[in-house]
Amino acid sequence: MVLTFIDHDRGILNPLCLQVLTFGRELSESLGLPLHAVLIGSDTAGLHDELHRYGVSRIHLVKHPWLQDYAPEAWAKSISQLIKSAQPRVVLAASTDRGNEVLAHVGALTELPMAANCVQLNPGSPFQVVRYRWGSSLLEEAELHGDPKLISIAPHIIDAKEGRTFAEPILEAFSPELEEKDLRVRVTGREETHSEGVDLRTASVVVGGGRGVGSQEGFQVLEELASLLGGAVGGSRVATNNGWRPHSDQIGLTGNRIAPDLYLACGISGAIQHLVGCNRAKHVLVINKDRGAPFFRRADYGVVGDLHEILPALITEIRKKRST
Ligand SMILES: Cc1cc2nc3c(=O)[nH]c(=O)nc-3n(C[C@H](O)[C@H](O)[C@H](O)COP(=O)(O)OP(=O)(O)OC[C@H]3O[C@@H](n4cnc5c(N)ncnc54)[C@H](O)[C@@H]3O)c2cc1C
Repeated sequence: MVLTFIDHDRGILNPLCLQVLTFGRELSESLGLPLHAVLIGSDTAGLHDELHRYGVSRIHLVKHPWLQDYAPEAWAKSISQLIKSAQPRVVLAASTDRGNEVLAHVGALTELPMAANCVQLNPGSPFQVVRYRWGSSLLEEAELHGDPKLISIAPHIIDAKEGRTFAEPILEAFSPELEEKDLRVRVTGREETHSEGVDLRTASVVVGGGRGVGSQEGFQVLEELASLLGGAVGGSRVATNNGWRPHSDQIGLTGNRIAPDLYLACGISGAIQHLVGCNRAKHVLVINKDRGAPFFRRADYGVVGDLHEILPALITEIRKKRST
């Protein structure tokens, strides 16, 4: 079977999991194997329907009083024990922080190799993978040995699509054996970030700002444009390091990977660490006052000028068009 690790936070599903379930369903169909999911943590009951719609035929519910909240080693130990009893052929996870962290621990515990950030699998003999390396700036072809195969799937390489659903999935409880040391790393508290509006990771329009925006207040005009376009605001590392945006808004190697239909990059130079975060955007519009800015080489549309003049003009124009 193909087993998918479901990354959720107290019942809120990481949307990238739906892409992985779509990927996993296609893989399981091609291998003639069922698609299973493993759920760990609290408040998971609300996820069963969604997993059903994505073609999961069996859900392994990992139950233990210590597993209410995220604890990577304990979660990974549970999956390693589940692997022994359920014997999946492939274990998939989304290439999220949690997906990669848990699967890497599973690899260490089972002494199996793990392939992260995969974009394509050729499950023959040998089992081949194509995966992103070097911050997604190159693709590597590799052979993956050992059983089961531990694989995380890169974000946005497939659109999430519900499958044909048959019977309700079977719910199967699994009780792992854990020790206190498995909880060395665990969530002990939370600080909420703002979470209003459109989710940056899945937005179809993103308005990004960098050093050129100049201040926290400078982002208001980006907010206004994003809200007009039904989009989300993001920033470069300079914008987050300066405290103009929260870290959760960062786009790039050490931030979010986005894949909008349109990315408007304002006052961002286009450093490679930023570009790897937006290289799956379908269209890129760059606004920069330096015509030599490297971002222009990756742009579909470019405007050379001051974003503080261009963005208000753009907003006025959109409003005018909409009122006629
Ligand atoms: C390990 C590592 C990880 C990193 N991870 C990330 C990451 O995840 N995300 C990320 O973004 N960066 C990351 N960085 C940093 C990255 O290398 C760049 O330093 C950063 O992206 C630059 O941000 P910026 O484009 O906003 O600033 P700058 O490079 O300073 O560019 C500012 C741009 O704004 C333009 N500008 C200025 N004023 C205006 C104006 N009024 N109107 C229009 N244009 C204007 C300038 O011409 C310039 O091109 C990382 C670096 C390292 C070493």
